[in-house]
Amino acid sequence: MNKPVDLRSDTVTQPTPGMREAMAAARLGDDVFGDDPSVNALQDKIAAMLGFEAALFVPTGTQSNLCAILSHCQRGDEYIVGQMQHCYRWEGGGGAVFGSVQPQPLDHQPDGTLALADIEAAIKPDDPHFARSRMLALENTLGGKLLPMAYVEQATALAKTKGLGRHLDGARLFNAAVAQAAKVGGDALAEARRIAQCFDSVSVCFSKGLGAPAGSALCGSREFIGRARRVRKMAGGAMRQAGFLAAAATYALDHHVERLAQDHALARQLAEGLAGIDGLVVEAPQSNILFVDLTGSARDHADALLKHLAQHGVLATGLYRLRFVTHLDVDADGVDRAIAAIRGFFRA
Ligand SMILES: *Cc1c(COP(=O)(O)O)cnc(C)c1O
Repeated sequence: MNKPVDLRSDTVTQPTPGMREAMAAARLGDDVFGDDPSVNALQDKIAAMLGFEAALFVPTGTQSNLCAILSHCQRGDEYIVGQMQHCYRWEGGGGAVFGSVQPQPLDHQPDGTLALADIEAAIKPDDPHFARSRMLALENTLGGKLLPMAYVEQATALAKTKGLGRHLDGARLFNAAVAQAAKVGGDALAEARRIAQCFDSVSVCFSKGLGAPAGSALCGSREFIGRARRVRKMAGGAMRQAGFLAAAATYALDHHVERLAQDHALARQLAEGLAGIDGLVVEAPQSNILFVDLTGSARDHADALLKHLAQHGVLATGLYRLRFVTHLDVDADGVDRAIAAIRGFFRA
């Protein structure tokens, strides 16, 4: 049988031969002493790419967001965040657990944004009754959705006016940048920088669509990154010869950004291939993530559908709302196999 088409997440990618070579050739040192040349080169590179003074290499995106929350906020502070954002919903409440920082979650609008009026209403006056509102966190892309650039500018301008720090969870910033570049006819790296420059800190994942085995970077001012470095140490994330991983991330920045457009095209191919099946509502994908809702009697067969897909070598997550994510290790044939398997199930 063919290798399974793994559409569960863009985290499942294997390093390419070129990336493995770059890892094997990496010059190494002890990064806790600041001595690892490959880590230092990566940090300098991503900071320069996104227009920040400094960057910090961390093992995971979760730790990167934790470092950001605990560097922007103190005990008794709060951050304003969307209900579905990773740094509220999917990180075990780390800001609260480790930092006594309270989240103030808001509902998303259908396009993934947080309404400006909701943000403004959530900012607390300086009064002993309230936690101190200190930070706004946005995420782009959010569930595969590209936040409109004008919105990002307005929301971050509002936060700045109100004295809030502005953090972007840009785990998939480069997916956003590539999607935005396609929309406005621009250059992906320029769009990445344009989005990033609306924020005081930005976290980027190398192990999602960029295809590195592990690692994220937090970008910010030199002073901010100095604080984040303390949090990283406390959280146990200061690694030694981390240059092996940093070299993979540098390789990904050099070779895997523009190609994200292929992943976006594959997500569209999958959406088009699933159009018109009774019982499926297929959202139009804006980047590399496709959601498909089961409606009516199709919901009674959700379990059977996932089993059928697994039997046909197609892996996805969800139940009534299926999620398919395209990435470096998926090609057009794989997408066609996924379409055929789903159509086979529905005999459509
Ligand atoms: C994946 C992801 C993270 C971090 O995930 P880790 O598994 O901790 O690396 C953070 N934010 C978003 C939006 C993500 O998708």
